[in-house]
Amino acid sequence: MRILLFGPPGVGKGTQAKLLAEAYAIPHYSTGDMLRAAAAAHTQLGLQAKQLMDAGHLVPDPVMIGIVREVLVSPAGRQGFILDGFPRTLPQAEALVDIFREIGITTFCVINVDVDAEEIVRRLGSRLVCDREGKIFNSELDHVQAGEPCPSCGTPLTQRKDDRPDAIRQRLSVYHVKSASVLTFYERLGVVHTVDGAGSNESVNREVRIVLDASVCP
Ligand code: AMP
Repeated sequence: MRILLFGPPGVGKGTQAKLLAEAYAIPHYSTGDMLRAAAAAHTQLGLQAKQLMDAGHLVPDPVMIGIVREVLVSPAGRQGFILDGFPRTLPQAEALVDIFREIGITTFCVINVDVDAEEIVRRLGSRLVCDREGKIFNSELDHVQAGEPCPSCGTPLTQRKDDRPDAIRQRLSVYHVKSASVLTFYERLGVVHTVDGAGSNESVNREVRIVLDASVCP
């Protein structure tokens, strides 16, 4: 199964991707997670990317295309995957066509998670992360604040720098300017399935799985 998870920042793509990776036993490749791992490891790429990410800007296309190509051509990537956060621009979508051609992939589907803009701003503004386990919490729903211990492992929870109000505005604007055309690109190919991302993680996941289990996604 090859799934591209698409949607603006804050719709819960990461959470859905993790649930789907577990349910279908396929690898989850999140370009945001890869960049954050590179930044935490202080690699040259990571340090350069961090500045752009913190400000809500995109990392340049050639860098992102190189990263994704590397994982998809690997033996693990050839078994199927969930790609989360890529492609985000038209050049990335076009490059992915070439990568798929190179590794012989002819079928895939795009799950577009749709949530209205006001709700996105609210969700991102209240998102907290556990840097140790990568778990995501919501300060309103989970009744935790930044600096308080992760309910699961006790590590102090933090707010991502790009979840601060000015960076959220920048990321949403980038999405509308650059990423919306990616959806049009895939709609023309007839591979997009839109699900309502407004409910709980579990209900959204049920909806996504109904789409996937209906075999629309080979
Ligand atoms: P995410 O965790 O998917 O919200 O990504 C966090 C940040 O990583 C984005 O705001 C970008 O700065 C960067 N990033 C992730 N994926 C891409 C991509 N496909 N193209 C460019 N930048 C990306």
